[in-house]
Amino acid sequence: MSAGLIWRGHPVCLRFQKSGGFHLRQDAKHRWMLLAPESTAPEEAAAFLREYGRDVLPEYETATPRDLERLLRSWSERLGLPETPALQWTENRYIWGQANPEAGVILLHRSLLRAPAACAEEVLVHELCHFRYFAHDRSFWRLLASCIPDWAAREGLLRCRPMEEKLCFTEEI
Ligand SMILES: [Zn+2]
Repeated sequence: MSAGLIWRGHPVCLRFQKSGGFHLRQDAKHRWMLLAPESTAPEEAAAFLREYGRDVLPEYETATPRDLERLLRSWSERLGLPETPALQWTENRYIWGQANPEAGVILLHRSLLRAPAACAEEVLVHELCHFRYFAHDRSFWRLLASCIPDWAAREGLLRCRPMEEKLCFTEEI
């Protein structure tokens, strides 16, 4: 289904998927498509492309490791976790974040320190929600949406950033 969307001067086909957020990508024939949640209206998709799919992002704030440690503590409290997980950084894995509730560890990719702070926070909170619900089940997504209502747009922004092309969003141990 095409909704007449344009991004960087290219037509973009809107496709719906049952789960997950926004994801802008090219198919094998280099046609652009925007994967969107099932209930997305064409206007919402257009707003996503306008706000988050810009070729060059405007200046944005980034988060420091200290900011993320602070957010980790406050979100752990808000989520009612008995202990604040330890935060570890990686450059080696092709993941944005990883939760290991058994070890009490959250792993974040160092490139998040160059991403908009809102995106880094979203990845952090996504992983923290796995300390409550390990699987990507309905309870998990409900909890994430209650913490960060625009989580899908924030993830979409990460996916649109060319420098992180090779990273996928999350993967649990
Ligand atoms: Zn996850």
